[in-house]
Amino acid sequence: MSGLDGLPVPSRNWALFLDFDGTLVDLAPKPDLVEVPAGLTGLLQKLSTQLDGALAIVTGRELCDVDGFLRLMLPGAGIHGAELRRKMGDATIVMDDSRGLADVIAELEPLIAGDPRLILQLKSAAFTLHYRLAPERETEMRDLAARAVKGHENLELMFGKMMVEVKPKGADKGTGMERLMQAPPFSTRVPVFIGDDITDEDGFKFVKNHAGLAIKVGDGTSSADHRLSSPAAVFEWLMDMSAYFERKSRR
Ligand SMILES: [Mg+2]
Repeated sequence: MSGLDGLPVPSRNWALFLDFDGTLVDLAPKPDLVEVPAGLTGLLQKLSTQLDGALAIVTGRELCDVDGFLRLMLPGAGIHGAELRRKMGDATIVMDDSRGLADVIAELEPLIAGDPRLILQLKSAAFTLHYRLAPERETEMRDLAARAVKGHENLELMFGKMMVEVKPKGADKGTGMERLMQAPPFSTRVPVFIGDDITDEDGFKFVKNHAGLAIKVGDGTSSADHRLSSPAAVFEWLMDMSAYFERKSRR
């Protein structure tokens, strides 16, 4: 296998970190409307075994949310690194301080209540304000969130595709992967991260600082060295990878 789109030949010594929305599944108008492609869960399960468990989801969502879509409790970092699960099926631990979050939500909620296109996605240690259905309100939404978070020293804003997130300060996908890499089965492996959004750049930075591989899905500027065009292309590459591991193990 020469690698799809010039991607390197896979190694069973990789720790594979996968974003969810826009990477494994196509983005949807609302977060709960994403559709999981047929065969994805089985493929991830198989790859996880082939990598001795070193396959994790690194997402802005709560991990339990992704568990529900995949019907699989993969290890991972949720809420942009604020949540951690080291092994398949383990409980999720919140790692960061989200005090004051309820006050920020209470301040913001009445200000957006009049527009049903604005969606507040609540999580255990963060929340996301989605304005995908009202893109013309972007600047206003960013300003509202900035004002609401003011005075809460332990919280900060993060901007993504048609969304603004309020989350514990310092939590990002890079710190999430760093925490996963502290213990087996991830430690001592080469980190490989696939993501599609601005928020994934922290993850790309982390893997590049650890002699790993950064793969960006879709267009847009990125520090990643490699590209896959779409979630469908990611699926195809992961299928090829799994088949390659299988062929190698038979030899
Ligand atoms: Mg994404």
